[in-house]
Amino acid sequence: MIKHLLCKDSSTLKEVLEVIDSNGKGTAFIIDINDKLKGVITDGDIRRLIINGFGTDEIVLNHLSKNFVFGKNKEPYEQLIQKINKKIKIIPIVDNNLRVVDFFEVRNEIRVPVTAPDLTGNELKYLTDAFLSTWISSSGNYINRFETDFSSFCQSKYGVAVSNGTVALHLALEALGIGQGDEVIVPDLTFAATINAVIHANATPVIVDIELDSWCINPSEIEKAITSRTKAIIPVHLYGQVCDMEAIMKIAKKYNLYVIEDCAEAHGAQFKNMKVGSIGHIGCFSFFGNKIITTGEGGMCTTNDNKIYERLKLLRDHGMSSQKKYWHEVVGYNYRMTNLQAAIGVAQLERIESILEKRKKIEAYYRKILHDLSIIKFQKDDFKDRKKVTWLVSILIEDSNRDRYIKKFKEAGIDVRPFFYPLSEMEIYKKFVFTNTNSKIVSQKGLNLPDIFDNNKNIGDKIRHIFTGDFYE
Ligand SMILES: *Cc1c(COP(=O)(O)O)cnc(C)c1O
Repeated sequence: MIKHLLCKDSSTLKEVLEVIDSNGKGTAFIIDINDKLKGVITDGDIRRLIINGFGTDEIVLNHLSKNFVFGKNKEPYEQLIQKINKKIKIIPIVDNNLRVVDFFEVRNEIRVPVTAPDLTGNELKYLTDAFLSTWISSSGNYINRFETDFSSFCQSKYGVAVSNGTVALHLALEALGIGQGDEVIVPDLTFAATINAVIHANATPVIVDIELDSWCINPSEIEKAITSRTKAIIPVHLYGQVCDMEAIMKIAKKYNLYVIEDCAEAHGAQFKNMKVGSIGHIGCFSFFGNKIITTGEGGMCTTNDNKIYERLKLLRDHGMSSQKKYWHEVVGYNYRMTNLQAAIGVAQLERIESILEKRKKIEAYYRKILHDLSIIKFQKDDFKDRKKVTWLVSILIEDSNRDRYIKKFKEAGIDVRPFFYPLSEMEIYKKFVFTNTNSKIVSQKGLNLPDIFDNNKNIGDKIRHIFTGDFYE
């Protein structure tokens, strides 16, 4: 790579322009016959020389500025980045003998998003259909279809579509009658919506630690945290991984507790042959834009229990009697999904198997290009009973430098995400912590990588380079 940027100081301006033209970097590094750096010249510098009357057969050495910016081998990243500005986007890196050994550049024009929704099926068609039908509010065929199709995808009898995943959790808690004075066990490592829903239900969350290998809630910590006030457990199938549902259901049975599965990141994942969302009393899903399938905003509660189903529906719709309009039996909510959202959902669901397959391929590609790097540990995928799905590709970085890598990704225009912070580290949730040893470890090391495929070899190479390249460490 570096040789495409080099030009001998005896070259003509025309020859230098040819080098700049072919390297696409707008810059050439000028070296003498001993390969020592003599200067840096850009296409803009040459343009100005020509405007000032110099010919393209001029020797470049005679037109180099005395002031030019370069970096030294092993110079810290933080120093190098300070040498980059609006005008200087790329600088040579030299060794002790002033020989160019590498270059450093910041290109913020490319942006690789962490993930983007795949709306390439019937989404627009169904959305348009729903729109033209004028059933754009929360009644309409697509709602019923989405509830039926999604619950059957989850091997659940019933589905109740709601406006987002957070209210799905809140509705589940309310439908189970959980409130003031009740304790609900949640994992320390999750998106905050899990615990917020408990707090909004006026119940008391109890935060417990995760398993080090699955990053999901640890059943033996659950059992230790149970008191006479415990009413429910919310296992979160985190980053597509599946909780140990056998152990959790056993505990729930023993202590007579409800289980609300938070499936917001794991549509289609399985424990043994059971789909997540069908194992506990209620499953809660999110269809936010970055989830496995999306309706823009949206969510769903799934259940196999007819009584719970009726309660969910009642509370979703203002607590209004289904027999007697405007007659309210309980204080309910408006947590409904619109027919427009459901139309997108139906189209997404038609392709969910191929979407899951595609996401699996993204992870397989990363495993292929990064498998030999000892600092990277991929999410465990060989549990006997748990069949995870790929949401965001999730890895641990085993060298305590995660945030430095995140910075490098940012500079390269590649969007990556650190894992969630442990809930127990935040002031507002601290008082609810029971145990949190593993969650702290995993949270600090964890990173979500962007969706890339084997036809994005350039980005794949770049990502690998960020993990391996130590030239500016
Ligand atoms: C996204 C998410 C939610 C909340 O879903 P929204 O639709 O954004 O409200 C809840 N729990 C987990 C684990 C999530 O990732």
